[in-house]
Amino acid sequence: MIPLEEALNRILATVPRLPAATVPLGEALGLVTVEALAATEPIPPFANTGVDGYAVQAADTAGATPETPVRLKIVGELPAGRAPTVPVGRGEAIRIMTGAPIPEGCDAIVMVEDTTGGDNGDGGFVAISREAEPGAHVRRAGGDLDIGAAAIPPGSVLGPAGLGVVASLGHPTVMTVRRPRVAVMSTGDELVPPGEPISIGQIRDSNRPMLIAQVAQTGCEVVDLGIGIDDEAVITERLEKAAATCDAVVTSGGVSMGDYDMVKIVLRRIAEMEWWQVAIKPAKPLAFGMLNGVPIFGLPGNPVSSNISFELFARPALLQMMGHTRRFRPVTPAVAEHDMRRRPDGKLHLDRVTLRREGGPGSGRLLAARTGVQASNVLSAMALADGLAMLPDGEGVAAGESVDIMRLDLPADH
Ligand code: AMP
Ligand code: MG
Repeated sequence: MIPLEEALNRILATVPRLPAATVPLGEALGLVTVEALAATEPIPPFANTGVDGYAVQAADTAGATPETPVRLKIVGELPAGRAPTVPVGRGEAIRIMTGAPIPEGCDAIVMVEDTTGGDNGDGGFVAISREAEPGAHVRRAGGDLDIGAAAIPPGSVLGPAGLGVVASLGHPTVMTVRRPRVAVMSTGDELVPPGEPISIGQIRDSNRPMLIAQVAQTGCEVVDLGIGIDDEAVITERLEKAAATCDAVVTSGGVSMGDYDMVKIVLRRIAEMEWWQVAIKPAKPLAFGMLNGVPIFGLPGNPVSSNISFELFARPALLQMMGHTRRFRPVTPAVAEHDMRRRPDGKLHLDRVTLRREGGPGSGRLLAARTGVQASNVLSAMALADGLAMLPDGEGVAAGESVDIMRLDLPADH
């Protein structure tokens, strides 16, 4: 057996970062930038008002209070999107809406809340009930980003706000590390997809929809290779085609010791594979290797093992291919709600747990409880899990003791 860290480190030392590509903004969510994005025009492009109100000369509002308001003559109206046509002179005001350009002559905006009368006429006058400082509510040109200011450094993960910034810089596309195309195949003569009739000895192919979702959740494009039937030529062709058209291949099943599934025979022949026994439970068997420069993850067939093996090995590797520096699920301590006993066997145990806060959402200690039967075929217990309790080799932990949880409910560590 090899330790978890060794298997992971060998995988991470092997998988390449993908090259850059230019993608439309609508397809860039979650991708990693490869160049610094700087402002080539000031943002905002012109001085504008941050509030609805009146554009004035600040000096005209001197001494204004609710008891002693200052009356100014309304000489125009300026909605957002329109260029000013008249200047603001002494004793004058222009009705102005948030985002509209600051008219000539104006050096302050009075919020509509600090005025009366304007909208109702008052003979074309507005009463100002508060002094305005010069510059009040004026958003200067370049106040967010001046020309040349670095907006987004290389290596940034583009989230919704980041995409908004790229759009504000005027770019319809962005250079990022390319999104990986990942092929998923399940293997096993007993497998039947949901929706088709099933006979004795057959089981549903639960791993393929699960792994497809895990690949998609990691932010990769999925290529569904279906169920690998037990024909050497067919499997060879499918895997070789996948390696030629995809950036990674994930298979499930047929990698256990003594298992001579067709996928194992084919991978041994066409790829450079390592066949590991990792010192973990579940998900001990793992095959990893390269086929024409494309990483192949041969995950075990038991559904819980498949899921956890993807989490532990394939997900960090795919995130690395995408250029992410945060590749790992966060690990946080929690309090065991009950005994989490185990026997020494040289392995790290990863038990499926739910998490809750002692004092209700957001308050109190984090508590962990097992979700159900801890067997590698019991996928329902995995489906309920928020995380994996990491029980090092030994006797486990007692109720009330601290246990490290790999957080499947959180995307990545900082
Ligand atoms: P294997 O790793 O191929 O020896 O499979 C181990 C166990 O997982 C067996 O009980 C298989 O029937 C089961 N299994 C393999 N592939 C899948 C799959 N895609 N969906 C559900 N169960 C599977
Ligand atoms: Mg099998």
